[in-house]
Amino acid sequence: MFAGLLLVNAVISGVMWARQRTPLHRALFLVWALSMGSLTLQAFVQAERWMVFAFAIPSLGVNLLLADLHGRALDLRPRWRTYLAASTVGLVATAVATARAAPFWMAALPLVAGVTTPLVDVCAQSFSRAGAKPSTMGRLAILALALNALHHLDYPFFRDDPRFAATGFVVAILAGLATSITAPAIILERTAFEVEKLQAEIIAGERLAAIGEAAAVVAHEIRNPLGVISNTTRMLSHEDLSAEGRELLAIQESETLRLDRLVHDLLVVAKPMRPRRVEIDLGDLVRHAAELSKPLASASEVRLEVAVASEIAPGLKGDPDHVLLALTNLLRNAIEAAPKGSEVRASVANAEGGVRVRVDDEGNGIAPDALPNLFEPFFTTRAKGSGLGLAIVSRVMKAHGGTVHASNLPSRGARFELTFRG
Ligand code: ADP
Repeated sequence: MFAGLLLVNAVISGVMWARQRTPLHRALFLVWALSMGSLTLQAFVQAERWMVFAFAIPSLGVNLLLADLHGRALDLRPRWRTYLAASTVGLVATAVATARAAPFWMAALPLVAGVTTPLVDVCAQSFSRAGAKPSTMGRLAILALALNALHHLDYPFFRDDPRFAATGFVVAILAGLATSITAPAIILERTAFEVEKLQAEIIAGERLAAIGEAAAVVAHEIRNPLGVISNTTRMLSHEDLSAEGRELLAIQESETLRLDRLVHDLLVVAKPMRPRRVEIDLGDLVRHAAELSKPLASASEVRLEVAVASEIAPGLKGDPDHVLLALTNLLRNAIEAAPKGSEVRASVANAEGGVRVRVDDEGNGIAPDALPNLFEPFFTTRAKGSGLGLAIVSRVMKAHGGTVHASNLPSRGARFELTFRG
């Protein structure tokens, strides 16, 4: 009879085990299921038959469900994961302790309680976040976890004394039922957290769209007068001017150019990007971008090196104008970051499933706290920066189904890597 029940449970456990997504999830499930199973087996061995049917078997079911939920709960935030891992260790310790029931295990009780109770903290933490009031579910979860901790403590005390076996079962059942709502509570809370995050993203997206629309109108309106300023500046340069006049005119010219680029970039960011899909040669495009960046490189006294691997996978499709824009933006950033006399290297090579372009410089690299925001529109650390260059690169890559990745080189400088899928 028991063997049959165990077999059924083993099958259920197997199915649940297979439901786990990664080896890590599976490992956690297994540890939970084994430790919970071993606790329930204690009951099988010690209790009377009716008790086994009334309590121990349902309890094993609940525990398996709990193990399943905990296995899947591994998608939680890192802090929670640490707690879950710690509590798993605690459970294993409890299981071993109850199996051996040696007096020295009494000494392990504070450890067991210590590692189980952080779970209480997990819930408390999650529900007290940023002014959020604990929900009923949260309160129940905290209660459940406290009961759960108690339940682990009861075994070593009551195991060998039949008078306390019933008490042990009652506590175990209460704890089993209570803990069965714990994991869903944690998962629900996590879902609420995800929803909050998504909402924030949507609001940010809407704000950006509104900024984009306003920027497009302003940029459009600025374009014409800017054209006039640019033309008159050019005409003025043919006039007979004093040295000081020429100097001022040069400043006017470079600032007009800067404004022109800003307007252009704003329009690129604001307008929806619909790239053409024609066959592109990334090697040619990188050479072309380097050619366009040469004046800036020589003004900054930076050498520009281009290396294109001999066998680039053919058949890559995209919009050459957009890709060129992304490449010139990366090269300009690299040149601006590079110290005088250093080298900026652009390379093209095959990568897994596509082609990658790398732009390396020997500058100071990217500040670690800037890394997460690098591709946000308007994020800049430069006094005269607009923060649009990398936002454009990121948009171009998204529109092409590719990726952009920024990192610091081990020696010095930054590396920007574009990956185009074939
Ligand atoms: P901008 O150049 O106008 O600041 P970008 O979007 O092109 O705007 O770049 C955003 C930020 O990314 C820069 O202000 C700078 O902090 C960082 N960055 C970009 N390229 C590099 C690089 N090659 N080395 C170090 N930091 C860089």
